[in-house]
Amino acid sequence: MIIYGWNSKIIKQAPLENLTCEHCQEKNSLLTIYSRYVHIFWIPMFPYKKEALISCAHCQKATEEKHMTVDYKEKVKALKKSVPTPKYLFSGLVILALGAAYLGYAGNENTKKELSFLEQPQAGDVYRNYDETETTEYKYYLWKVADVIDDSVYVSPSSYSYNGLPTKLEPEDGFYDAYFAVHKDLLIEMYDKGEIKSVLREYAPETGFDRMISYPLLDSASSASHEVIN
Ligand SMILES: [Zn+2]
Repeated sequence: MIIYGWNSKIIKQAPLENLTCEHCQEKNSLLTIYSRYVHIFWIPMFPYKKEALISCAHCQKATEEKHMTVDYKEKVKALKKSVPTPKYLFSGLVILALGAAYLGYAGNENTKKELSFLEQPQAGDVYRNYDETETTEYKYYLWKVADVIDDSVYVSPSSYSYNGLPTKLEPEDGFYDAYFAVHKDLLIEMYDKGEIKSVLREYAPETGFDRMISYPLLDSASSASHEVIN
């Protein structure tokens, strides 16, 4: 959940010694200029307008800008212009810009790392794939590298498809004990096209990526335990 809202900050206060309060007739008024800003999680993101308020220190009567006399409206307008908006009211934008730059950098580093995994595949690597042509919402599926022989990468599919990028296998899911060969160049091409969304190596046991299950056809046919599917 993102908590956001609007807030205001006093950026200037000045006594108005010559102004007579129309309510109590005292000459004890104060002009306050606020900067209104948008905050996200209470971090100021950006200021969007300045507001002024005249308040009487004696009777507490406050007068908003729209109710001020024409004379004061002009003065307030000029004063608002002359008061700079504190830079820190932009701090959220700076944090966001830094964050975006870091994410861009981290994303780039991750792509480099994943490409290096595809260039030099290892048994155990998990590919999280995306099938755009799948008509249901279950467009994500997994492959796990079982073996690498020259440029051929032998992969086992998982038994489930997922409706989002899976970070772990469902408890009933696992990788089949059956493999098929994919040329290394095709893997890199799939990665470029976004058909391989990510490559995982050195994953935690709780991901379930080490779980293996029997390929159902092999059970019924009771044939060799390792069959290459083409
Ligand atoms: Zn007053």
